[in-house]
Amino acid sequence: MILFLKPYFELKPWAGDELNKIYECPNGTGEAWIVSGYNKKSSIITNGIYKGRSLRWLYLNHPELFGYPEEKEFPLLLKIISAGDDLSIQVHPNDDYALKTKNQLGKFECWYFLDENKATDAILGVNVKNAMELKTVLEQGTLENYLIRKPITNGDLAVINPGRVHALTKGSFILEAQESSDITYRLYDYNRLPKRELHIKDSLNVIDYDNDRKIIYPFKDKAAYKDSHFDIIKLEIGKHLTYTPDTYLICYVLDGNGILNGKYEVKKGDPFIVTKDEKATLDGNAKVIAIVPKKKGKERLKMRKVALITGVISQDGYYLSDLLLSKDYEVHGLIQTRSQMYSPIIKELEARGNFFIHCADMTDTSSLNRVFELVNPDEIYHLAKQSHVDLSFEMPEYTTEVNAIGTLRLLDAIRNSEIRTKLFNMSSPYLFSGDRYPQTDETRFEPKSPFAVAEEYAYRIVNTYRECYNIYAVNGICYNHESKYRNDTYVSQKIINAVKRVKNGEDFILELGNLNASREWGHAKDYAKAMWLALQLKEPTDFIISTGKAYTVRDFVIKAYKKANIDLVFEGTGLNEVGIDVNTGKVLVKINKDYLRPNDAKVLVSSSTKFKDETGFEFEHDIDSLIDSMMGE
Ligand code: GDP
Repeated sequence: MILFLKPYFELKPWAGDELNKIYECPNGTGEAWIVSGYNKKSSIITNGIYKGRSLRWLYLNHPELFGYPEEKEFPLLLKIISAGDDLSIQVHPNDDYALKTKNQLGKFECWYFLDENKATDAILGVNVKNAMELKTVLEQGTLENYLIRKPITNGDLAVINPGRVHALTKGSFILEAQESSDITYRLYDYNRLPKRELHIKDSLNVIDYDNDRKIIYPFKDKAAYKDSHFDIIKLEIGKHLTYTPDTYLICYVLDGNGILNGKYEVKKGDPFIVTKDEKATLDGNAKVIAIVPKKKGKERLKMRKVALITGVISQDGYYLSDLLLSKDYEVHGLIQTRSQMYSPIIKELEARGNFFIHCADMTDTSSLNRVFELVNPDEIYHLAKQSHVDLSFEMPEYTTEVNAIGTLRLLDAIRNSEIRTKLFNMSSPYLFSGDRYPQTDETRFEPKSPFAVAEEYAYRIVNTYRECYNIYAVNGICYNHESKYRNDTYVSQKIINAVKRVKNGEDFILELGNLNASREWGHAKDYAKAMWLALQLKEPTDFIISTGKAYTVRDFVIKAYKKANIDLVFEGTGLNEVGIDVNTGKVLVKINKDYLRPNDAKVLVSSSTKFKDETGFEFEHDIDSLIDSMMGE
């Protein structure tokens, strides 16, 4: 397939006037991104079945056309740059430095000086021996005396390795081919106003002071520069050329005209891509620059994965962050208010590094989109729900906004961004009524609370977006799971706190609601691992994640008191049921009707084995080890 592309145009205060002569672009355009897969700055395909789609979209959705590259983003960027002024002095880091400091990649780039270029030199190096010397020169304000100006003529190729200080001068008109990377450090801006940010410290850390390396190559007919990053070849066609790339080929027509594959007319200024397995035959008198991408070494693929966790202040948020950090992820968590920044969980996670928090709310689309664009996550773990079933009867509208529409907002952010992000939606067993048990993948949903109805919407919209937009989004119905990070609005922690008080000699009667509710009692730590596994499968699919064992609230109470060496027996029925210490005869547990819920589910337990079969997952904890860990033993 041959893909023709419409550039993305970028206005620049220093723009020259050459771009307007080739493209229909606004005055003040300094850069034409002729081949770009950047988010929101992608070039657009102008022919064939993908006409109107961005190159970014095509790369993410049809990797086969590019030979199944391993890089998650389109790896190269080609620009035509017209400079009407001297550009600021810059330097790029190498992969090592960029990975360590920013979890991004370094940048290698080449400049080909086009025929209409009017500049006679370019800044390519700084004449100092080391960072100390450079620091002194900067402090004295005499850097301009030390910049190395290399003479250039049109048709030259400048090869700029990471660490090389560089800048285009006034009148430059070039084709720039570079590795996609967002990191550029600005060393010096000629003290111009308005002042732009300088990155002195990083620049000093990455500059290469060896000025002897060859940088400029006269790039005449049929020249080629081969590098580990990409090859750049100049083709002067004259008669007939046939090329079958190993991966794909990026081309730019420097001059002249030609006919591609017998049917496409190409002319000066046209960028096009020859996809994998396509044969390209060009006739005519066009001059073409071709870039051949290389399969990348491990270094360039080593980027840390980035996870975004909504509802990070929760037991699941904590265990998931802990797990992902131990797997060398960069973890970003959403909090609702600034005061949550000071929570001990957040402080502990932040101290480990690679953990960042952002304020955003599931009811506020703009804050979610802002964080999404900033973070560019590989994986989203969506835990931020109004998770109290009883409260959902008091606040049904808010519960729906957060749980149902909140999930839709995340899916829309993924859909609109074209970033290849996977989404795990933590779903609830309250989708089932609890009247039929054990629940399986075939059991139908019968939500009985505003909470569960909103959860059903979230579940279905995840399915819908997966099917309609090919998004990797999955639901994991996570059965009840607990930990010491639960607060005592949940019955498990409420019981454990009561047992601790009695154990410490306090006269304390625990008041509970429905003792007959039968639930699973998994450990949140196990669930964190399960959620991660759910996103590591090749194909997205929904799961029930469950231990398969249920105990009543009454059983949990008996087991918990037993840990404090108290044997409890229950006597009486309904509201009159009490839990009595066998040894002392004291009442330790009674019923308070305020804690009873309308429509409480009877038995929530699932025998689904699909998750275990597909991921090999095993639970490490059972109800006894859960209670031990919650008691602090
Ligand atoms: P949930 O299942 O996510 O709502 O978790 P909870 O821990 O809040 O509730 C678990 C079960 O315990 C529900 O069936 C409740 O009705 C029952 N339960 C019984 N007494 C209490 C109580 O005092 N507080 C809470 N939260 N739940 C109780």
